[in-house]
Amino acid sequence: MLLKCYKNFINGAYLANSSGETFEVINPATGKVIYQVEVADEKIKQQAITSAQQGFAKWSAMSATQRSRLLLKAVALLRERNDELAKIEVLDTGKPWQEASVVDVESGADSIEFFAGLAPGIEGNQQPIDGDFYYTRRDPLGICAGIGAWNYPLQIACWKAAPALACGNSMIFKPSEETPLGALKLAEIFTEAGIPDGVFNVVQGAGEVGAWLSHHEDIAKISFTGEVNTGKKAMTAAASTLKDVTMELGGKSPLIIFDDADIDNAVSAAMLGNFYTQGEICTNGTRVFVQKSAYPKFIEKLVQRTSQNIIVGDPMAPETNFGALISRKHFNTVLDYIKVGVKEGATLLHGGKSIQPENASEGYFIAPTIFTDCTDEMTICREEIFGPVMSILTFDNEDEVINRANSTKYGLAAGVFT
Ligand code: NAD
Repeated sequence: MLLKCYKNFINGAYLANSSGETFEVINPATGKVIYQVEVADEKIKQQAITSAQQGFAKWSAMSATQRSRLLLKAVALLRERNDELAKIEVLDTGKPWQEASVVDVESGADSIEFFAGLAPGIEGNQQPIDGDFYYTRRDPLGICAGIGAWNYPLQIACWKAAPALACGNSMIFKPSEETPLGALKLAEIFTEAGIPDGVFNVVQGAGEVGAWLSHHEDIAKISFTGEVNTGKKAMTAAASTLKDVTMELGGKSPLIIFDDADIDNAVSAAMLGNFYTQGEICTNGTRVFVQKSAYPKFIEKLVQRTSQNIIVGDPMAPETNFGALISRKHFNTVLDYIKVGVKEGATLLHGGKSIQPENASEGYFIAPTIFTDCTDEMTICREEIFGPVMSILTFDNEDEVINRANSTKYGLAAGVFT
């Protein structure tokens, strides 16, 4: 079967590269190649910059109200095409349709709607000084680059485009090479909504294209979502031209459960915070601290509900609530972390192995995994795994748990049940 090959999106249209270089995209639930994408070569890169410069000139000259109006048209189109776009996200990421059909497109649209609403209200100020006055105004920066991760591809493209475009900037966006299609669909929608050509461009490729964006002197700002180590590289590159940066990186967030908490509710949070999107969420509460007196009850309910309620399988099946990991490589990384957890002495209470669901036997599935008897020093409690692996730790009192919860090199999120 001849696979579709997507091009880069430049100046309001798809543009072919000169090199002919392409890469393949795999559906994680089947292990099969579903389409190909052209890599951004020199020609595409140059055209992307020219296009974003021209887009910026047109877009920044418009009033904030005009920009807001066009962005709101894009919001309406996103909502209208929810199911079509959600399906793309399911096939690219392996996450359940149950989630993508109500969260991914919707939250992306919400983000654009929010910033479109703010845009007309953005103003400078004026201040009297010695009988005279000075004033400030808020000007757009110019070209902003967005670099995305693969777990929420369309949503990330939306939330990076939203503030940048609302404030009058143009954007060159590079989605993750694992999930490149959602951003192209967003570009099509922006164009259809009447946003001028060149305002939102999509370049495709792996780290090399991201590094090119981070270094480029004509790009004023970079907004990056990905791992801490990649973020450090992007930030270092951005420093070479003193770009503004926004970094949305990884985490190893604590979820603290005190013995006076509603335990059913806390169990729900621990499950959502470790198994939603099969654990591939940056803010996940992967270090679950449970007060010792609540521990037996918590564990009993957690294991019972994890065994009974999680349905692993073909992500497009309506009953599936737990999908496939993004790639064979990531699947192996997560399994390696599980082995390290066992080796370092944690008790594997649930899961811990790959599974082959009947309706998706070739996919990269790992069972929801729960470790107990964890200690703060264990690798599984220190490093981001980005998969369905929950580590449970116990504590005696508040001061102790706050200290331990904060003792991490990551920031990002935290939860408390009490
Ligand atoms: P990653 O760091 O491997 O890749 C992210 C992006 O960076 C990709 O588009 C990649 O092609 C690009 N890239 C690779 N090398 C680069 C370089 N040298 N310069 C510039 N760009 C480069 O991350 P991932 O595996 O795609 O995503 C998972 C990570 O993303 C996890 O750590 C997760 O916590 C994080 N994440 C964070 C948030 C947040 O909002 N904080 C949201 C989603 C995901």
